[in-house]
Amino acid sequence: MLEGLMMHYPLTMDRILEHGNRLYRHKRIKTLLPNGKMHEYTYGDLYRRVKRLCNVLEGLGLQMGDRVGTFAWNNYQHMELYFGAPLAGGVVHTLNIRLFPEQLAYIINHAEDRILFVDGTLLPLVEQVADRIPHVEHFVLFNVPPGREPRLPGQVHDYEALLADASEEYTWRVQDENQALGLCYTSGTTGNPKGALYSHRSMVLHTMGECQAMALGLTESDVVLPVVPQFHAMAWGLPYAATMVGATLVMPGPHLKPEALAQLIEAERVTVAAGVPTIWNGLYHELRTRPRDISSIRALVVGGSAMPRALIEAYERDLGVNVLHAWGMTELSPLGTVSKLLSHHQDLPAPQKWDVKARQGYPIFGVEMRIVDDAGHELPWDGTTMGELQVRGPWIIRDYFKLEGSSDAFTPDGWFRTGDVVTVHEDGFMTITDRTKDLVKSGGEWISSVELEGHLMAHPDVLEAAVIAMPDEKWQERPLAVVVLAPQAREQVQVEELNAFLEPRVARWWLPDAYAFVEEIPKTSVGKFDKKVLRERLAQGELRPIRAREATR
Ligand code: ADP
Repeated sequence: MLEGLMMHYPLTMDRILEHGNRLYRHKRIKTLLPNGKMHEYTYGDLYRRVKRLCNVLEGLGLQMGDRVGTFAWNNYQHMELYFGAPLAGGVVHTLNIRLFPEQLAYIINHAEDRILFVDGTLLPLVEQVADRIPHVEHFVLFNVPPGREPRLPGQVHDYEALLADASEEYTWRVQDENQALGLCYTSGTTGNPKGALYSHRSMVLHTMGECQAMALGLTESDVVLPVVPQFHAMAWGLPYAATMVGATLVMPGPHLKPEALAQLIEAERVTVAAGVPTIWNGLYHELRTRPRDISSIRALVVGGSAMPRALIEAYERDLGVNVLHAWGMTELSPLGTVSKLLSHHQDLPAPQKWDVKARQGYPIFGVEMRIVDDAGHELPWDGTTMGELQVRGPWIIRDYFKLEGSSDAFTPDGWFRTGDVVTVHEDGFMTITDRTKDLVKSGGEWISSVELEGHLMAHPDVLEAAVIAMPDEKWQERPLAVVVLAPQAREQVQVEELNAFLEPRVARWWLPDAYAFVEEIPKTSVGKFDKKVLRERLAQGELRPIRAREATR
């Protein structure tokens, strides 16, 4: 073999921070503070404060590989921890602020966090678990409301006071590109949370992958608003990506209500905003009642669960906003596919373009995919054959943290089983039919809950719809649609009308057997429909389904 004569250049996160500081030190990072005021500083400030933070962490006794927990909204302090913890040789472990105390304690203990950084506005939640997390030696607080005394064991510090006393001289403690950088637990939509442990190399490659033009194509001229929390799959990598390209970053802090987001997008002229469908559904309804100018947006990035086609259409038709649908998983750092139109889509009429955009899209370079049947045989990319999606690539986990060798999520030939059932078109566009566990298995055949939900949410009086399986003597399972109606329609819309609306859109045997009308669909900690809770409510007789006449085949 003739070896190439190229430099050995480890892909470590300090390279991205150094690059951002060298080229874009004047560019801004803005945070909407809890009191509604805007905090602003530059990438140059970020750089200097990260150096101080690294000294602080070493001063607190951080050893190589130690996990540093963060319990915070999207803000500049959290951004500093994204760089500071891994560049001081530790691992940034983002904790989901919406978990129940038991789950939170479980995750902190599983990760063995030694230092916990806490947003003062979230103190009550941490205080609830404080006596159950023995590994935590230090609590470091920021944004503490005036006069609030923390009730925490161990050593409690003030973030700003520690930074003020620390030196700005620091040599990054990064020895190897394969060193761990970050730890993120799946939100546990299905089963117990499991940890994805990212490396410097995987996250640098993910950042480069995400910025490809055929992915998000971020550039210096973008103004990026991550609504997706920093604890949900690393805010989809946006803090790192924005630093690499010098994009202006706008952090919403705790202000996630539709009205606040609309105002922020308008005032900051945001070009790329990212969040789950629930967030954009809320924003759309807000903008219909109280219009604002959000025309600065070039890509409304949406992922985490399926974006209903009707909402993609509504954003484009009513607001002129381009939706960029993406699919990912915590285990994929998280970006896997994006649904950007290709050249052969350009001349399609608008409705067909929306059909394409409602798919989850093609894999970006760095993510390989295949679909397989139950026996593990590869299936064709023909747009109709359904199979389980498996992926591999440099930013996909090869095992779960502290569960090495025990998970069945990995195939013997080195692919990761996503648990998603999909079809893939010849041009590589993937469509999620369902999560394996959410499919409705009716008489041995599959009904896609995702597809039914998408159609139902296209009905003008339906605000939200989630479809779950209902036990059935004859067919084993039949679909039950749990629906939130718009307030003005609550007395009028009948089950028959909804099935009549669905009838031209799906096979007849897919029509829900029953509907349950509720005030709100329960959501998981990251804003997805919580079907686990719906199934429990159904089992406990709390849903009160209304049967549809002759719906079953
Ligand atoms: P959790 O597994 O805890 O829900 P993740 O955010 O990692 O947390 O979830 C990944 C899963 O979310 C995927 O396997 C897929 O089922 C679903 N998902 C993500 N993006 C999309 C999308 N655009 N459309 C449909 N489902 C999606």
